[in-house]
Parts: sequence; structure tokens; C-alpha cells
Amino acid sequence: MTNVERVRRHFSLDSSCPSCGYSIEDVDHVLRHCPLAYSIWENHIKPTVFNDFMNFPIKAWIVRNLTHANLFTDSPEDWDILFGALLWNIWLTRNAIEFESTVELTGLVVERSDDRREAGRRTILWHLRDLCHRNWVLRPTLIPREINMVADGIAKLALRDTIEETYYSVPPPSIQPLLIVDTGG
Ligand SMILES: [Zn+2]
Repeated sequence: MTNVERVRRHFSLDSSCPSCGYSIEDVDHVLRHCPLAYSIWENHIKPTVFNDFMNFPIKAWIVRNLTHANLFTDSPEDWDILFGALLWNIWLTRNAIEFESTVELTGLVVERSDDRREAGRRTILWHLRDLCHRNWVLRPTLIPREINMVADGIAKLALRDTIEETYYSVPPPSIQPLLIVDTGG
């Protein structure tokens, strides 16, 4: 929660930014105008639109960046993922300064965000988005779990295990009988 919000809820009397000391620490300040954030955007945003980027209403700013990557950056590929990761890491860094008294360098925020973009590329949603952008005619069809036992079984395995991503080169033992059921129609 930003310090402006904490003051509004009577949790605190101090609305200033823990990072730079500016008197009003609201969302706009943390994510865009605080020197930590500002220097990151300066390095990622096209100079010709930088002024617009810094002055869009905050909600429209987030939506535009997630949906119109080429408006603000010369490297629009996966900008939505990198933008989200930069916001998240700016917020984490702000919290570290506020609660742990540790100061993190801007370079680390960017490095960590690039890692997150790389991780984002490996997620199933990213692959689905990639598939949807190919020149195919897609007709999404709901297949009830009762006639797709393998998918249902793998989903249950995922719920049981806490591992984030798993690749199977051979079907897990518990899935093998379900494969036979599915192939039988
Ligand atoms: Zn600040």
C-alpha cells in the first residue's frame, strides 16, 4: 500500500516516499515518477513519446502498455510481459526500501524483470497466445473431462505437486491407463 493510501486509512501520518522523500507517495509516483522508476522508463521508452508516457492517466497508462506495445517502445515484442515485470519489481524494490532498509540498484530491477519476461515466454498462456497468432482458423471446443481423462489426470497431478512446470517425456504411471481409456474413445 502506498503511503498516501496508508494516511487515507489512518494507518500513518506520513505520506512521503520512502525512496526519494517526495511528499506524496501515490501509485503514480511509485510506478512512474519516483527516480527509481523514472530512470527505468527513460531507458525503455522512445524519447519522442516519453512525455506522453509519463503523463497518461495511470489506469489508461497501464492498459495502453499492456495492449499497444508499439506506442511507447522500439522493442514491442513481449513488452506487455516486461512492462508488467518492471512494475512488479519497482513495487518490490519500493517495499524493500520501506520495510527492509535495503536499497536496490535500478539495474537489478531491469535484470530481474528480463528474467521474468523469459519465464513468461515459457508459460502455457504465452504458448497459447503464440499459437493464436499463427495463420490458422481456430475453433475452441469444450471437451468435458469425462471424455478427456488424460488432461483431467494431469491437471490433478499438477494440483497434487507444487512444482511450477513439469515436462513429461513418457506418460507418468498414473496416466498410462487413462491414455488407453482415451484412445478407446
Ligand atoms: Zn519517490
